[in-house]
Amino acid sequence: MAIKTHFKSTKKLTSIKPIKKVSKAKAHEIMELLCKEYPDADCELVFKSDFQLLISVILSAQTTDKQVNKVTPALFKKFPTAQKLAEADLNEIKEIIRPTGYYNSKSTNIQHCAQELIKNYQGQVPSNLEELTKLPGVGRKTANVVLGIVHKIPGWTVDTHVQRLSKRLGFTQEKDPHKIEIALQKLFPNRDWSKLSITLIWHGRRVCFAKSPNCKGCPVNHLCPSSLI
Ligand code: SF4
Repeated sequence: MAIKTHFKSTKKLTSIKPIKKVSKAKAHEIMELLCKEYPDADCELVFKSDFQLLISVILSAQTTDKQVNKVTPALFKKFPTAQKLAEADLNEIKEIIRPTGYYNSKSTNIQHCAQELIKNYQGQVPSNLEELTKLPGVGRKTANVVLGIVHKIPGWTVDTHVQRLSKRLGFTQEKDPHKIEIALQKLFPNRDWSKLSITLIWHGRRVCFAKSPNCKGCPVNHLCPSSLI
């Protein structure tokens, strides 16, 4: 899809006051407009199996999907399945995933995760939140991404973008990711959760930047309580 380019605002969001919550109707209007802006919003990680998606999402912590996509072709060429990754030399994994940062803990996590999949799930990715979040390196955020894409089970992916935007847009004043998830669950219908998560993530990556949001080029600047224009 063609991405619109906008001038970045030099203004910053410096308010320390909690942003006023918007009504449910306004929240729905905002998300309708954002969904129209990003009709093709989808996961930007590249993977060929459920297992590869799970490992890619674990690697995406504290880095970008772009960076993950740079290392996973080599990683999955060498270790395409849970069995292969479970038996791999840990130092080899570390070397390959080093550019994603935190490579010591990430390499241990993905290998232990692969070992758990072999031991308890015949190498398959489990289909519920409880089992997924017991795997090494898998929190609610990772589990919800995997459940949404692999098993088509709707869920909110409360990553850094969803945390920031849900506050700026006045959807919630909560700070804790799990509390934000619950607030968003109450605000929007269950069937839309995954689609709305990825839409907010795309808006955060392209327009509503952490430091200098591009309010001038934002399609919801007339509705957003944090708009700088
Ligand atoms: S107007 Fe748009 S870019 Fe600006 S803070 Fe609100 S959502 Fe973010």
